[in-house]
Formats: sequence, structure tokens, C-alpha cells
Amino acid sequence: MQQIGCHSCDNQEVTIKGIFFQGIHILAECRCSSCNFEFLHTMPTGHALQFPIALSLPDRRVINLTPANKWLVLPLQESFNSRKTVSIKIKQNRVVQSDPILLNCLDTCFGHLYSKLWNAQTLVKWCPQNDIIVLLPAKYAWMVPNEVSEIWMVDVSLLNCQFFLDGLDEWIKKQMERFEKVLLSQAYIHLDHHAYVDLEQIVGQKRFDLNQFQLLPLRITFILREDRFWHNSLIMDFLYKLSVKYKLQHIIKPLFLWRQKHLVHKTIKNIQNLLPEVQFYATGLGNSLSYAKSLKDLRVSEINLETERIWNAVYAQSHLVIGVHGSHMLIPTSLAAGFINLLPRYKIDHIVEDSVLPYTNRMLQFMGRFLDEFSTSSLISNHVVSLMKTFPAVFENTNRIPE
Ligand SMILES: [Zn+2]
Repeated sequence: MQQIGCHSCDNQEVTIKGIFFQGIHILAECRCSSCNFEFLHTMPTGHALQFPIALSLPDRRVINLTPANKWLVLPLQESFNSRKTVSIKIKQNRVVQSDPILLNCLDTCFGHLYSKLWNAQTLVKWCPQNDIIVLLPAKYAWMVPNEVSEIWMVDVSLLNCQFFLDGLDEWIKKQMERFEKVLLSQAYIHLDHHAYVDLEQIVGQKRFDLNQFQLLPLRITFILREDRFWHNSLIMDFLYKLSVKYKLQHIIKPLFLWRQKHLVHKTIKNIQNLLPEVQFYATGLGNSLSYAKSLKDLRVSEINLETERIWNAVYAQSHLVIGVHGSHMLIPTSLAAGFINLLPRYKIDHIVEDSVLPYTNRMLQFMGRFLDEFSTSSLISNHVVSLMKTFPAVFENTNRIPE
């Protein structure tokens, strides 16, 4: 385990007096054996592996704040002042017979939760001597592998995972009384999915087979959101940032909905001029405004299991999915043949976090395209048409066996 050192005197011998479950984080209550300084320290799991956090015990103030860990540290500090009471249910697949490994997938970000959950599959495979327990919001229990022994389902939304989850610590400690020892998974983020993870098994859907690319009806699916808009305008970008700062998004939302719809329609028209046979679909949370009949609109105001199933089937037959980075593109890109990801500039550091394709050769660059957030509809349609037209030659060359 990662060494926890004293943040007051640099002594490396620290006594862990106990641990508690805050929600996203699992914290160790520490006391320095040299200077008696008492502090809380994150256990090495999830993002805390790369960004460990220490807080002073009496006032819960972060004591190792840096520009790099600010995004993780400040919400944890704030959570001590904003609590949310939760209840938890268990789904037992089999009786736990060995020391279980607990995998905590609680997170405010779907992408983080999804990639933490990949560890459930690798733990089942690599630690057959241990039972696996997964802790996550109840809504995502459908993705947990059946081989997991228990699922601890918390009635909490992703957004509410920002809070200190009241009741969680007591509930988990009560459950832990059943076991002699509980091990903690390090819940690695963004494991090499190609090497270690079967994404088809996690989402319960077979992905697009590139050998079928030229045989299936051409299909493009837009992932549309109402909190991350494609607007392609510097002025609108400024306006949007201003609205976020002053919490006035509700006022400018109709304008952004209209703009997004306008750009989608323009892109469809451009593509149809050259490839009239393409079918268009839209998925996403929020179904404001109606779209042209040429687009099959599968957007919803609330996502349930049936929605996930329908959307996943559509992604698995989509030659391309198109969406703004951060629009929950991970499942669509786990299933579709390829993607166009419109990348906001503030997301450049996070470029790889919202897409997964399984290719190891040139098809990876060919099928997975990142375009700037201010790309025009004609640039996007140029990419789409080019990809569709040049696919046969690129795929054929890539698949040749040397003479
Ligand atoms: Zn000390």
C-alpha cells in the first residue's frame, strides 16, 4: 500500500486509527507517532491513487492543495459541509466464502464510474480466490458482471455523489462484520481496455463489426445533450461561460438548443447531398425541440434500463457516433464503428477520457476523429463523407497479410 506520511513533521510512521466511507473517497484517520498530528488521508483507490488528499482532522481543511489536485480536493473538503442521506440495497449473486475485495465505483462522473467498473471484470478474472463486491449508484448495477458476488447499490445520482453520503459508512461497517477481512481494490482509472477489458460483456451488447461496414445500411448517430451544446461560435461560447458563472443557463438555453438543432440539420443536409442513403439517429438526455423527419429522434427526458438497451442497439449499428466531448460518449464509442468527438479546448488535457475504440492499427486514427469544438458543419460532413468513401480501401490495406 502507498505510504502515508505525516503532513506536519514528515515522519513516515503514521498510525491508522480507523477508516470511514465518505462516498467517492475512503478516508483513513491517521495519527503521527512522532508529533501526534491527527489528519485524514485518502486510501489509495480511484483518483486518490494519483492525487492523494490529506485534511487536518479538527477542521477538515485540505492541507496539500495544489493546482493539479484542486479538482478532486475541493469537492471533498466541501462535502463535509453538504451531506446527503442515502439508503443502500444488496444484490447477492452468491454467498461470499473468502476475503472479499471491495471495488468502490461511486463517482460524480459517468466516465470515471464506467472505467472504475472495468476493474470488476479484471478482479473476477485475476483474483479467482477472492469474492468481489462492487459499490456503486443503483442505476448502474446493470453493467456489473454476473460473476461479482455482491452489488452494494446506493440510491444516489451521479450528481449527488459530490456530497458526503450520510449512512454509507455505518451501513458498510455493519456489512463488513460478516467478514474476517475486506480488501480494497485500487479501482484503477482508464485501464488499457484493449488489453484487459471486454466492453461488450459490460454493456451487454456486441459491438459493430468492421467487416460489416460496407454491408450494413449507413447509419450516423448524434449524441445530443442539453448541458453541453455544439454551437460552433466564439460569441456563443463567451455567452455560455458567462451564463455558467452567473447561473443563468436557463435564460440562454433556448438559443443554444436552437443553434445545436440548426447545426445538426445543416450537417445532415451536407451529408445527404453526397450520400443520400445515410440514416440519421439522435440519442441523449433532454428532448427539447423537434428535429426533422430525416432524423430518428430517440432522445429522452429520463434514462431507464429500456432506454439504455435501445440506445446500445443503435450504437452497435452506427458507422459513426458524433458528439461533443463529455456527452457520455464512452458507451456509444464502446459499441459504434467509429466516432467524431468535438473537443472543447478546456478538455484538451482530457482528450482520451470520453472515447474507446478497440483497434490497434491505423483504423484507430481512421475511425476515431477529434475535431475542434468550433468545427463547422461542413468540416464535419467532409470528414463523414470522406470516411465513408475511403473506408473500403483503408480497411482492405490494413487487413492484408504480407506475401
Ligand atoms: Zn508528525
